[in-house]
Amino acid sequence: MNNCLNCGQSICKNLNLSEIFFWRNIDSSSLCSYCQNQLITLPDKEHCPNCFKLGSADLCLDCVIWQNKYKIFNQHFAIYEYNQFIHDYFKRYKRYGDALLAQLFQAEIKRWSKLVKYDLVTYIPSSQSHFLKRGFDPVYELYKQVFDLTAVFEKVDADKPQAQKNKQERMQTPQTFKIRADFRKKDQDMQILIVDDIYTTGRTLLHARQLLYDKGFQEIYTFSLTR
Ligand SMILES: [Zn+2]
Ligand SMILES: [Zn+2]
Repeated sequence: MNNCLNCGQSICKNLNLSEIFFWRNIDSSSLCSYCQNQLITLPDKEHCPNCFKLGSADLCLDCVIWQNKYKIFNQHFAIYEYNQFIHDYFKRYKRYGDALLAQLFQAEIKRWSKLVKYDLVTYIPSSQSHFLKRGFDPVYELYKQVFDLTAVFEKVDADKPQAQKNKQERMQTPQTFKIRADFRKKDQDMQILIVDDIYTTGRTLLHARQLLYDKGFQEIYTFSLTR
């Protein structure tokens, strides 16, 4: 008997040998059936082909705006629908920095990573103030065991946290990243993936993407665990 990594309820499940010996390979079967049922996988549902927004198989309004206004052709992938369950998960994960919680989605992220191939994978970093407060970088911790992550971006501290802004404010937020001074890659043909935890308006990833685009990189894709 073990307990659900998310809610702590006991799960009646016999561990197989590899799970006993390689306890790090925790996958979503470490969730009780109640928590498991809260996860809605996006690829199974009708979504925007460019950003995975649910609702219709056509290009969504957000993507139309990005394309018309900023000439940005969003290429985003995501696994889970953002809902109350995911909201609670990230709240706990970010607050307590629980390493086991970071592992909850490893198997699923790993499965996705095997379908794709990128020359460089980078991530959306915390701001310095968040990093100091939490003592860890949630996005880095979430993906570090799956991807060989290169630090490319540096976050400039913002006036108020993204979560406290409404959608309109978030869309209008000016550039909040810069390229790190030690980033040296010059091969502009390389395919780049930028990973983040949650995709809300897409603004964060598009800002990061824009910086690489301005450096001459063309093949830039983005990924978030949830959307
Ligand atoms: Zn549970
Ligand atoms: Zn879209």
